[in-house]
Amino acid sequence: MAGRASRSRQSDKPPLCVSTLPDDTATRPDRQRPAHSAREAVVAASGPKSGPLARSLYIHIPFCSHKCHYCDFYSFVDTRDRQAVFAARLERELAALSIAAGPIDTIFVGGGTPSMLQTQLWESLLRTLDTQFDLSSIKAGTGEFTVECNPETVTPELVATLRAGGVTRISMGAQSFQSEHLKTLERLHDPERVPRAVEMVRAAGIERVSLDLIFAIPGQTLDDLARDLDAALMLPIEHLSCYELTYEPNTAMTKRLEMGQFERCPEELEIEMFEHVGERTRAAGLARYEVSNYARPGAECRHNLAYWRQEQWLAAGPSASAHIAGHRYKNVPRLETYLDREDEGFAEIVDHEGPDPVRLIQEKLMTGLRLREGVDGEGLLKELATFDEQAASRLDHESAMQSHLGRLVRGEGRWTLTDEGLLLADGVASSLMIAVIG
Ligand code: SF4
Repeated sequence: MAGRASRSRQSDKPPLCVSTLPDDTATRPDRQRPAHSAREAVVAASGPKSGPLARSLYIHIPFCSHKCHYCDFYSFVDTRDRQAVFAARLERELAALSIAAGPIDTIFVGGGTPSMLQTQLWESLLRTLDTQFDLSSIKAGTGEFTVECNPETVTPELVATLRAGGVTRISMGAQSFQSEHLKTLERLHDPERVPRAVEMVRAAGIERVSLDLIFAIPGQTLDDLARDLDAALMLPIEHLSCYELTYEPNTAMTKRLEMGQFERCPEELEIEMFEHVGERTRAAGLARYEVSNYARPGAECRHNLAYWRQEQWLAAGPSASAHIAGHRYKNVPRLETYLDREDEGFAEIVDHEGPDPVRLIQEKLMTGLRLREGVDGEGLLKELATFDEQAASRLDHESAMQSHLGRLVRGEGRWTLTDEGLLLADGVASSLMIAVIG
């Protein structure tokens, strides 16, 4: 279905810039694309007029044991010979970034496969985080510190190290509990490893576990998905991310699809699966709080909420994206270049966009509508009207239209998607964003 809310793996990656959306939503003549540095954004964020400092931090570890053919994240097969030099470079970057950090509420270490980092390097990284940042809220149990793990790399030694270093949450990439579907995805773990890994995490005393599942895998039936959900929900978890398989440009799997080597899941089945995930998780006590994310009350991923609410976050490691003092940028997605840079610890950046109030409103629409809590629509209209009354009027009209079509509810100032709108979340958000720029 055109405009279907897609799997965006926000648990792994911060939201993309508006410039990655369809061209008609991104092309404004006054768009700023200067080639600035991360240092400039960070210094702006730490200045006296910058407002609140960043309270979230994303760290990207790019190593994997195998490159899965559907994956478009910056990751590559690790031969373990570059881990030490990478970790030392990462620690220098973290020290540089710390000037723009307030007390840190959330950390998310994604990748790649962060659980492949050698234990002694984890110990050093965790020490650096503790010395460079104020982690008091994480230590007090009100903050959140997540590390992504693949089940086959979890060991008692690793989880004990993570626990001792303050990690409070593990996000585990299960993807499926059926070998044939894991094989289709080129995920290499034995499904039996998932419950064992969850048990190890629990035994180490880490409070929270989230599992990732993928649906709409070629050849997967609704019954197969139901069995995956049963297997996941039997485990002691508080959070589930269940993403529809998407075919990202330039992945090996997309090329195979285009060459006709297999057929994708039929669209009607994708919709049935999406609805089934909502029903099955609700029956198990997990509420959908974002298009692809489900949690027990109070167990929502706070770090990802910071992305979807367009708060500020710092980012370290190759390809990691930051949003700080109105600046958006991405660290260079190339390990060699990342390692070369000796500029006070800051990484070379790409895709920099300076502060732009119109873009920020578009971004709030794009990611906020994915949340069940929706967006502060009245607030956005007022903000937009302060510098472009016509744009505010167009946005108001388009939101009324989406409401008339049964996709959006406008209640008490907030705009939230209906169940039908949720299936079309990206399309509804695009319509509103286009209305903003006319
Ligand atoms: S393990 Fe994850 S990050 Fe690594 S290649 Fe596979 S999907 Fe990508």
